[in-house]
Amino acid sequence: MSVYLELQHIRKRFGAANVLDDVNLQIREGELVTLLGPSGCGKSTLLRCIAGLADMDGGSILLDGKDIAALPPRNREIGMVFQSYALFPNLTVRENIEYGLKMRGIDKTARRRRSEELLAVVELTEKRDAYPQQLSGGQQQRVALARSLAVRPKVLLLDEPLSALDAQIRKNLRAEIRAIQRQFNMTTIFVTHDQEEALTLSDRVCLMNKGRIVQEGSPEAIYTRPRTEFVARFMGSYNVLSRQDALRLFGRVERAAESYAVRPESVVLLNGRNEPLEPGRRVAEGIIRSMSILGNVIRYDVEAADVRLTIDALNDGRSLPLAEGSPVLLALDEAQLLHLDREGA
Ligand code: ADP
Ligand code: MG
Repeated sequence: MSVYLELQHIRKRFGAANVLDDVNLQIREGELVTLLGPSGCGKSTLLRCIAGLADMDGGSILLDGKDIAALPPRNREIGMVFQSYALFPNLTVRENIEYGLKMRGIDKTARRRRSEELLAVVELTEKRDAYPQQLSGGQQQRVALARSLAVRPKVLLLDEPLSALDAQIRKNLRAEIRAIQRQFNMTTIFVTHDQEEALTLSDRVCLMNKGRIVQEGSPEAIYTRPRTEFVARFMGSYNVLSRQDALRLFGRVERAAESYAVRPESVVLLNGRNEPLEPGRRVAEGIIRSMSILGNVIRYDVEAADVRLTIDALNDGRSLPLAEGSPVLLALDEAQLLHLDREGA
């Protein structure tokens, strides 16, 4: 892999707190990487360090072969979009988009050409003379995106750009951002605290906790192979089990681990289905404690062998949802158990 942006040993403290604790990351040209993690884990601080808006206490940032850590923000060739649209309220859409070009002394004809190009990309050509307050949140964020792309940055940083928007607009704009990012082959770091957003958007997900990247990988890998309890809990509704819980449920546990995880969709409820039990599976008795319909999935809270499990069943109409209090049979297989390491191991 040819590395385009490289973060090496980034450290940042606020007082006694280690907000960034030895962050290392390599990004390919054209790659979209998300930084995912709970509020306060250091995502925005990391973006601000990359953009030059915050000083680092250690580490280096290499972009396209050059160390940019000592450069002021305007010389870093990095574009940034924030959660709050941060447009200039007294400038029109076109003037907002052209702002960076004007600052760089680009002449009016070239500025017009570029802003028209970007207005078309974000589908706001008709709004070119409007002011920000005349636009919806989603439209304002598209202007912010166009403005940051206008100066042809080498890297685009997006800090929770969709978090202030309504669910449906968020999904549409998410898909648009991905399409534009691919069209421009734009090297992008996208920050979010929403795991679904990270999984749908990214080439690669970096999950952060307490100032560190705790696991990174493709969306598929990070979802299906969490390495620690934190990742398992953050990435999905994994059931995390102690060794004793796992032994009671599964009868045996071949390999010792800190704890074990089971995906909610991997445990099969046998009731109402005339399917033969797959060889190697063990049957446990349980009771439905509650259920909720999440659309295409029915989510059950099941108690079995003194363990509470979240179990997802496809809501495919082949059997009726099981009511609270119903006895159930669970098909379990030790192969469903993921082995989790201790945090920081
Ligand atoms: P995130 O974007 O992941 O929610 P931030 O990077 O904003 O997290 O913050 C990381 C930690 O650093 C938090 O504990 C936050 O309170 C702290 N922090 C951020 N900015 C400052 C600052 N200017 N002064 C002191 N502490 C800060
Ligand atoms: Mg933040």
